[in-house]
Amino acid sequence: MAQISVIQGDITTMKVDAIVNAANTGLVGGGGVDGAIHRAAGPELDIACRKLGGCPTGEAKVTPGFRLPARFVIHTPGPIWRDGSFEEPKLLRACYVNSLKRAVENGCQTIAFPSISTGVYGYPLKAAAKIALTAIAQFDAPLQVTMVCFEDAAFSAYQAVLNELD
Ligand code: ADP
Repeated sequence: MAQISVIQGDITTMKVDAIVNAANTGLVGGGGVDGAIHRAAGPELDIACRKLGGCPTGEAKVTPGFRLPARFVIHTPGPIWRDGSFEEPKLLRACYVNSLKRAVENGCQTIAFPSISTGVYGYPLKAAAKIALTAIAQFDAPLQVTMVCFEDAAFSAYQAVLNELD
């Protein structure tokens, strides 16, 4: 069973084995958490990402963390929210499950996630929090997972959903 905690903060400061990046399918770096991770990791991260040749929505690929305190970055493009009928829930769940699989494959014990898809990609927060925390709770591996929420609204939503799960 994965152990879950929810905190408010900046994922780039997390001293964990792996942090997850809410990437885009080109893995070319963007704004939001992706921009923050690239700035903190240094230009080597962009070079490593370009060698990966992109990543389909819902899948996950790994690079080193370079100048980050985290050893690895797991890049996963979340779904862009349209109206919920374009497999957004299934794809969002796949982001969490595939990222957790990459963490296990790389011998990680601690991993931190941002709130994937709830920024520019527009996924409704409460629905996203339910999918994220359910996928993590159901994942069968001895991982310590931290959800790192940047904004107050995300922190409240994830805390509320975690309390409902307990
Ligand atoms: P997406 O394109 O998947 O929606 P965004 O980066 O736009 O990705 O937003 C995802 C979430 O990451 C948002 O809740 C945003 O507030 C949050 N975020 C932005 N910067 C950081 C950071 N440094 N650490 C953690 N979360 C962050």
